[in-house]
Amino acid sequence: MTAYDTAVVGGGLLGCATAWHLARAGNRVLLVEKDQVNRHASGQNAGSLHFQLEFRMVEHGDDAARAAARALPLHLDAVRAWASIEDELGERCGVSRTGGLMLAETPAEIAVLDRKAALEREYGLDVAVLSGPELHRFAPYLADTVLAAGHVPGEGKANPRLVTPALARAAGRHGAVLRTGCRVTGLHRRGRHWELRTGSGPGGTAGETHLADTVVLAGGVWTAELAAMADVRLPVFPVGLTMSATARSRPFLPHLIQHVGRRLSMKQTEDGNVLIGGGWPAKLVSRAGQVDLETNPELRYESLVGNADAARVVPAVWDLPVIRTWTGMTTLTPDHLPLLGAVPRRPGLYVATGGSAFTLGLTYARLLAAMVVTGGPDRAIEDYSPARFGALNFV
Ligand SMILES: Cc1cc2nc3c(=O)[nH]c(=O)nc-3n(C[C@H](O)[C@H](O)[C@H](O)COP(=O)(O)OP(=O)(O)OC[C@H]3O[C@@H](n4cnc5c(N)ncnc54)[C@H](O)[C@@H]3O)c2cc1C
Repeated sequence: MTAYDTAVVGGGLLGCATAWHLARAGNRVLLVEKDQVNRHASGQNAGSLHFQLEFRMVEHGDDAARAAARALPLHLDAVRAWASIEDELGERCGVSRTGGLMLAETPAEIAVLDRKAALEREYGLDVAVLSGPELHRFAPYLADTVLAAGHVPGEGKANPRLVTPALARAAGRHGAVLRTGCRVTGLHRRGRHWELRTGSGPGGTAGETHLADTVVLAGGVWTAELAAMADVRLPVFPVGLTMSATARSRPFLPHLIQHVGRRLSMKQTEDGNVLIGGGWPAKLVSRAGQVDLETNPELRYESLVGNADAARVVPAVWDLPVIRTWTGMTTLTPDHLPLLGAVPRRPGLYVATGGSAFTLGLTYARLLAAMVVTGGPDRAIEDYSPARFGALNFV
């Protein structure tokens, strides 16, 4: 039985980035992934790097926006993280930071945009509200219905197919042991160590046992299931989302596009396809009264139509046929803030999930790895600590 300093559960962006940070800090790291690296949310997402507050954070009013804004320090850190990641990994990850626009089409939406920008500036985000001719000179591809837009210069996109595999390779170069096709089926504290039981295949049979001083749960929508193995309840909820991709076109959309009044994210990939998403729901599949996390959510016709309709703010997109639509699952917490840090009353157990963890994933991983290495609290992430849900756990 090999003993590790840290076992990371989950080979998505969060797990691979945490393993990379830990391994390069000298930790002996085991990363365990039940399927393949990047098989789930980290490889299925829209690749948006959005540092402004999202529509889901402002749609429920100013109080909710102010609560969600408590994650803005992470957004600021993420701006820096994405600026240097390709150099640090020595690989291209399709990172492009040509700026993002959050659109408003009515006076009421402009008012929300202004209040949102004021809140973001309180935290130090570089955001300007452009309007009228100035906006249309800046972004001539926008429909005339667009009256104003919040502009953040460092926003953009990265390629979800490239980022996580590059992080996994980097973790491996620093000595992390990566086990794929290997499911964690049990988590028990034995003396000073955690004992992880693993097995191959969906049932996790033919098991092995690994010892580690610390365990990082980076299991995406499976996080609650993994935490339950350590007798911990974490309120992490799966959400089904819809994406569409158009046929390729000449480059005409240099910015990341979002909307302050409806669900929309839109960008053009390096290959010329336009990806359209922004939070349109897909139906989670249930079996025997439980959400089946192993089955992709079902496509909802309303989401497909709504998603396409939202894209009318860029008329050139209307001429492009949609060639592919897919669904995926991600996690939200009840307060829309990340779940990041040490699990109370479980020494050496850490968790990272929740929110826009493609945009914020490099930041979550760096901060969490620093906390694991020092073994102490980290004030930078105390607002996101699982301790805020301590009332759910008595032992
Ligand atoms: C359609 C869609 C669009 C999105 N768009 C964006 C976007 O544009 N910008 C943004 O910031 N975010 C976006 N997100 C959210 C983002 O993709 C996720 O927040 C992020 O990828 C989460 O990464 P993760 O590593 O936590 O999870 P995952 O990538 O899901 O990785 C978790 C891994 O843990 C493994 N695992 C689980 N249980 C076990 C076990 N028992 N044993 C071993 N391994 C296990 C799983 O197999 C999985 O590979 C989107 C999500 C979706 C679904």
